[in-house]
Amino acid sequence: MNPNTSPLKLSIVVVGCGLGGLAAALCLGRAGHRVTVFEAASEATEIGVGIQVPPNVSRLLREWGLQEELEKTAVKPRAASWRRYDTGTMVGELDARKLEEKYGVPHYNVHRGELHRIMYNAAKVVANIITNSRVTAVNVGEPEMRQGSRRIQPTVILSDGRQVCADVVVGADGVKSVTRGTVCGDSSSGSKTNSAHRVIVPTSEMIKDSALKELVENTHVTCWMGPGRNIVGYCVSGGTGYNLVLSCPSTDDMEPESWSIPSSPDMIRNDYLGWEPRIQKLIDLIPSSSKWKLVDRPILSTWVHHGGVVLIGDACHPLLPYGAAMAMEDAAVLAALLTNPKTYTDIPHLLDAYADIRKPRCTYIQDVSRKNGAMFHLDDGPGQVARDLALSKLAEGGDNNERQFGYNVHEEVQQWIEKNPL
Ligand SMILES: Cc1cc2nc3c(=O)[nH]c(=O)nc-3n(C[C@H](O)[C@H](O)[C@H](O)COP(=O)(O)OP(=O)(O)OC[C@H]3O[C@@H](n4cnc5c(N)ncnc54)[C@H](O)[C@@H]3O)c2cc1C
Repeated sequence: MNPNTSPLKLSIVVVGCGLGGLAAALCLGRAGHRVTVFEAASEATEIGVGIQVPPNVSRLLREWGLQEELEKTAVKPRAASWRRYDTGTMVGELDARKLEEKYGVPHYNVHRGELHRIMYNAAKVVANIITNSRVTAVNVGEPEMRQGSRRIQPTVILSDGRQVCADVVVGADGVKSVTRGTVCGDSSSGSKTNSAHRVIVPTSEMIKDSALKELVENTHVTCWMGPGRNIVGYCVSGGTGYNLVLSCPSTDDMEPESWSIPSSPDMIRNDYLGWEPRIQKLIDLIPSSSKWKLVDRPILSTWVHHGGVVLIGDACHPLLPYGAAMAMEDAAVLAALLTNPKTYTDIPHLLDAYADIRKPRCTYIQDVSRKNGAMFHLDDGPGQVARDLALSKLAEGGDNNERQFGYNVHEEVQQWIEKNPL
């Protein structure tokens, strides 16, 4: 087995150019496959808000040679801290330097657009990325014999009538995936849980106020926890912007088909009445914001069609707030497995391997994120007191996130291949 490139060069179509699709294009292209990405939007960009890059993803970005570029704008938080919503009192803190010592790579806070640009620039060297190209269907053909082995080629149909055949189609087309219909007949887009206002406040305004200046200078990832809602804040873009994700219960002010609506400081103020003074000051500085639907759905049971179609990222598991991290891990695992086919008949086996490796991981992360969501939104009372006590002990005990942050894609793939030789 060659750990870097595939002995059998495949033609691969990736549907969607989000962070998952770009990671797939980058890794599969570097593995020697011919990769084409179709993106529906006219430009390959990401929405302009922040994203947290935990050590399990920093490890991948370092492996892909992108760490140096990332560090030009990413912010390394000094700590994660948890605070009460009404007084702002800190109830727990975790030192990020200890995290870096333990896992060998940092946690970063990044502007999504910047991470997307870095990934795009790296992926376009090894993949053909075509925008303005909406995929309307993925069809699976009849098997044919090729180079002595049985081969089935899926075909991607585009809205302008183009049809493109490939050996493998990777559905990285997000929560409303079209590819999912081919894999498991499910075209639903999940159920709405909470909403989140997403905002970037200029730190040049925050440093004019001593209370807000501290938030900029201490570079913590701060989570304010309150009944039914929470706020996460951190610096991005070399410290020039303070990203805020303000989650609150869903309201019915969004069309079923839309993902976001513009929100306003007044709307946000109304959602956070009684929250500590720094939150009120931050809301006063919000230049513009949008309110996002947060979507949850059970992890799909079928991720793979043996006709050569596979789903990654939100298309098979929307996970809040770790979805991009999981989409990028999915891509890395899929590409590592697809360095192994010797014949076309190996492809379904390797796609099954991908689902076998990734489903337990994503199910675990979904469970963690649901529990965290519920824990951050507790009403004041015995549950909240127990939570705050547990958080107050984090500083001494350190993190217990080995399973979450210590994940190693190549070890997972190697173990699977050893147990299930081709
Ligand atoms: C409020 C909020 C905060 C979050 N914070 C974090 C965080 O801190 N860390 C984290 O890891 N995750 C976070 N997430 C989750 C993360 O945003 C998603 O899980 C992640 O973007 C999924 O990536 P993806 O590539 O699978 O899909 P997407 O990013 O949705 O990309 C899908 C792409 O496919 C394209 N597309 C769709 N349909 C078609 C088609 N038919 N033909 C062609 N192209 C198509 C779309 O235009 C898009 O470019 C957050 C999400 C929310 C809502």
